[in-house]
Amino acid sequence: MNYKEEFIKRIKYLNSNAMFLINPDKHDDLVCLYNKIESNNKELLINLELLLLSDQKIESNPLYQDVLLKQKDKKYLLYLKDNKDKIIDVFTILCLVRRFIINNQVDKEVLIKKLEALDEYFKVMGYQNNGVTYQSGFIDYLSNGINWNSDNLCVLTEKEKQEIYLLFHDETAWDTQVKCEPSDLFFSDNYCNSDFYLREDELLYYNDNYYMMCPNCYNLVIINKKLIPDKIKEKIKKEALNDGYYLRNIFYKREHLVYEKKKLLK
Ligand SMILES: [Zn+2]
Repeated sequence: MNYKEEFIKRIKYLNSNAMFLINPDKHDDLVCLYNKIESNNKELLINLELLLLSDQKIESNPLYQDVLLKQKDKKYLLYLKDNKDKIIDVFTILCLVRRFIINNQVDKEVLIKKLEALDEYFKVMGYQNNGVTYQSGFIDYLSNGINWNSDNLCVLTEKEKQEIYLLFHDETAWDTQVKCEPSDLFFSDNYCNSDFYLREDELLYYNDNYYMMCPNCYNLVIINKKLIPDKIKEKIKKEALNDGYYLRNIFYKREHLVYEKKKLLK
């Protein structure tokens, strides 16, 4: 078994299937939810721990078959839709398993090993799309609060964590770079050729294309559509089409920036 590959597979599985692993539940806090599950369905906790930490392939876990059935069960899908606010997320599952291990693992050495392994899941789930490397595992969090670090102390590299994150979030990677090049839109006669970071909240829509203003020279650079997630494209397009002054505002904003820069250079 390639452990890293298997770990990535399980994280992806959790992200895609958390809502099928534990039925939606309204709970006051995690302890209440834990106690409820432990007294009614302890087997679920045992299987969740196996799913996350055992050497068995996830396909041989009893929960795997349950999930397959629920994915095709129209009644369950409707039930999920009606209980959107009570759906259990990956973090909750990790916290439940953590509590289960602490309450049931008698051998101290094994306990620590299990918690450390589980912590890797917390670290990956804590990844944030902002370029800051930090340890966000449960153990770190308990002892130090969020532990900011320049080193990546996770089994997965920052890039691997980012890839997983982007699979489940409609965002562009924080480190996506674009080059300032001439485009078909106005002001393209002057361009600086420099690289800059793509920022979703600065994207503009015009005539079925997406643009971003170069932060150095204020040229409107055309952005490759493939770099922008579909949901973001839809949102920007909708905003643009609903705003009668959209293009005029871009024009004024740019004029203002150019004016301020000229003033500075004088
Ligand atoms: Zn430029």
